[in-house]
Amino acid sequence: MTETGPIVGVLGLQGDVLEHRRAVADCGLRSTVVRRPAELARVDALILPGGESTTMSRLLVAFDLMEPLRARLASGMPAYGSCAGMILMSREVLDGRPDRRQLAVLDAVVRPNAFGRQAASFEADLDFVGIPGGPIRAVFIRAPWVEQAGSGVEVLARVPEVPVAGSAAGRIVAIRQGSVLATAFHPELTGDRRVHQLFCEMVRLSNEVPVSARYAGESGTRARGA
Ligand code: GLN
Repeated sequence: MTETGPIVGVLGLQGDVLEHRRAVADCGLRSTVVRRPAELARVDALILPGGESTTMSRLLVAFDLMEPLRARLASGMPAYGSCAGMILMSREVLDGRPDRRQLAVLDAVVRPNAFGRQAASFEADLDFVGIPGGPIRAVFIRAPWVEQAGSGVEVLARVPEVPVAGSAAGRIVAIRQGSVLATAFHPELTGDRRVHQLFCEMVRLSNEVPVSARYAGESGTRARGA
């Protein structure tokens, strides 16, 4: 691994933080855990792991991360959300809970626990737009699906139309809107690094001004105050 180049933050409030860091390392990029605004200010990209999205949204507020994260996403920082991370970044969640706070950077309406509460997990092989080399094994754990995707949202994968998929057949489970990628499933659990490779490629090609360049161009107030 190089000692230079972009640093991918992994939001460390809940979920598979280590597994995502391992996947990023396998793709040749550095990573660090983000729990504080000062840590967010030092990363070039962010992965939002799975967990419980209502709790995560409360923790984002409690850790003073909600507004700085919104600002970084608005400035084009590449982000990848898996499962609860996908829910957090979508503009609307179909569960009627008033206590959620959304990052709302994806023009998508998601249904949490869409695969049914009983069927806590489900696996399927998905064709994934832009990822060569055959289907991706997708592990869904109390996963959402995307009920509606706006016109600016690219649909990258759907649940295959196989009998075992039941009412999930054809549902959208991976999307991208500009610098934001989201999957309803957990690629960090399978050892297949192709989804993380896609994200790391987005990070390498990002137009956001790299954090190192930003610090170099400033008096240092941001570094102290972040
Ligand atoms: N069902 C969870 C939620 O609503 C997400 C589950 C997951 O991230 N594995 O937030």
